[in-house]
Amino acid sequence: MNLLDSVEELKGIGPKTAAMLQKYGIKTIRDFFYNLPRTYDNYQMASTIAEIRPGKVVVKGKIEKLSSRRAQRRNMSIVEGTIRDNTGTVRVVWFNQSYRMKQFSPDKEYYFTGIYELRNGRYGLTSPSTAGVHEVETSDSLTPVYVAHGALNSAHFYRLVNESRDRFAEIPDLLPTVESGARRDALFNIHFPESLEMAERAREYLAYEELFKLILAGRLNKNENQKLQAESVPFSLERIQRFLARLPFKLTDAQRKASWEIFQDMEKTTPMNRLLQGDVGSGKTMVAAMAAYEVAVNGGQVALLAPTAILAMQHYEGLSNLLQPLGIQTALLVGATKQKAELKTKIKNGEIKFVIGTHALLTDDTEFKNLNLVIIDEQHRFGVEQRQKLMLKSPEARAPHLLAMTATPIPRSLQLTIFGDLNVSILGEMPKGRQPIETSIIKEIESREKLYPMIYDTVKAGQQVYWICKAIDDNPRMETTSVKARTAKLKRDFPKARIEFLHGRMKQAEKDEIMGKFASHEIDILVSTTVVEVGVNVPNATLIVIEDAEQYGLAQLHQLRGRVGRGDKKSYCFLMTAGEATPSQRLRELRKSTDGFYLAEVDLKLRGPGEIYGALQHGALDLKIASFSDTKIIKRARDDVDKILQNPDDMVKYKELMAEIRDYQQITTLN
Ligand code: ADP
Ligand code: MG
Repeated sequence: MNLLDSVEELKGIGPKTAAMLQKYGIKTIRDFFYNLPRTYDNYQMASTIAEIRPGKVVVKGKIEKLSSRRAQRRNMSIVEGTIRDNTGTVRVVWFNQSYRMKQFSPDKEYYFTGIYELRNGRYGLTSPSTAGVHEVETSDSLTPVYVAHGALNSAHFYRLVNESRDRFAEIPDLLPTVESGARRDALFNIHFPESLEMAERAREYLAYEELFKLILAGRLNKNENQKLQAESVPFSLERIQRFLARLPFKLTDAQRKASWEIFQDMEKTTPMNRLLQGDVGSGKTMVAAMAAYEVAVNGGQVALLAPTAILAMQHYEGLSNLLQPLGIQTALLVGATKQKAELKTKIKNGEIKFVIGTHALLTDDTEFKNLNLVIIDEQHRFGVEQRQKLMLKSPEARAPHLLAMTATPIPRSLQLTIFGDLNVSILGEMPKGRQPIETSIIKEIESREKLYPMIYDTVKAGQQVYWICKAIDDNPRMETTSVKARTAKLKRDFPKARIEFLHGRMKQAEKDEIMGKFASHEIDILVSTTVVEVGVNVPNATLIVIEDAEQYGLAQLHQLRGRVGRGDKKSYCFLMTAGEATPSQRLRELRKSTDGFYLAEVDLKLRGPGEIYGALQHGALDLKIASFSDTKIIKRARDDVDKILQNPDDMVKYKELMAEIRDYQQITTLN
């Protein structure tokens, strides 16, 4: 069996089903087998309605009196009904699952698996999963439940897996470090377990496999990087001290240490591959400036890639003021740059030493004479291909040094395990004089009383305000206030303030104009979607309101909040919630702490690593099986990877493994 063949090779999957599976990312036989159950239902446990007790229950019955409605304040649909068996009835309710209205035939019986609990004074089943009695095999004690994708519901997927039951035996081995057949057995047992213990053992194997691949990919990346040649950048302490003497401030200890690590890396003839992590406002740009200066003084060229034109322009302004007087020709290259051809000639002939730009840097006709350092700001904003495009602009046979910067901290626990091979510098402290941002959680209805006076005072004191909304336009189905509606409202409530809005559907030039006006204080209140999230620096902005705060992840909220508190003035963040519910733990943690590393650890605990990787590596890696609480498995995987890498020449033998690793290598690489 070739796991990379199309799912159509399997019994019961024709072109139509294959097309449906493909829509959900299941293309190959491997994708199909690795689409693992989310949990298991045990229909043999089914009890009669007369017998049920609070807690997890399975009941079997017909559904009656289905109706649906919308919750008023919250953006939520509610489907309600009654389940009847021959001993009685029980109330059932689903939230945000409006498809339930059409799912049931009144004359058929279904299993309902869910929590029987008290809600608004009445007992009932809340959001149970369901399966038609006619659809499930009751001979299986445990029935897997798969994530439903539209028309492809769990029972349907299970039927397909069942059709291929006898094909599992053909699944080839993958890892050289486990017994033959381990993979095949684990996949079979996770889809068809005889007991929960068996399912857990299967999951452990699959988690091990996943971590093994990831860790191996990281090691191989490092090995490959070490084979490349880079130009050494000789470091001079005196020179850098003279450079620093011109700054209006002293470096923080963390900046000093990080730059030292960078200088050491760049003296080597293997390319630097370093991630500079520092919370918003920790001063990453200055560290990058020092690295750029050292390279340029030694005759090399430097490229700094930023995710937006606004950010590139801000960097250009700051850095050219600093470097140009020292004789380092610095230029800006963004989409709107005029006379690009001329500029590109100067880059090609080496006249320009330091280019700061956006995606416009990546075009094929941007060529360098001796590109020796690539700096990528907010590196998670770029895909692997984009980053590689820039890396390949170095002259033949040489690789540039790479400094990637991010404000999304990788929790330390992840660093040590998966990213054990990454060179990381951390800016773990803020420049002196910063005042911590004061964060409060408020309900929308309290805003006039608690928030408006603050906004009024802020604007009056000549400082600026960000107001973040979830949606651009009003949508009758959503109860969030849109950017446009909020702007209109604020204009009414603060007639003297200069208020504009910004969102991702505006043209780049318009966005740049608005952002430019905000930076130069021609705007007092900027109402915006999360497009302002990345790196912009307007130190005069001291108040940020994040509306519908519950709808954002912790990391994103932290990033957004980091738009304020960037100067020496006291700053405030208001997390606004729509409903009456008590604020989530996410919001409470955010109120408590401004430490990005702490919050990243919390986020990891609350949401698992997938999201964090997503933020770190541009939506790439999604850990499906393993969890970072699997510390024993992680350790075993690391040790085993070390063992097989002792004979690197053997690696070619593991063809399928190497092929799978290549995907992971793309994801775990910095370049
Ligand atoms: P980020 O890490 O978010 O990219 P920046 O590099 O934009 O942060 O720095 C934020 C602000 O702090 C800038 O205005 C910068 O000039 C200032 N800054 C950087 N280093 C120091 C320092 N050591 N002392 C005081 N201010 C600093
Ligand atoms: Mg920055």
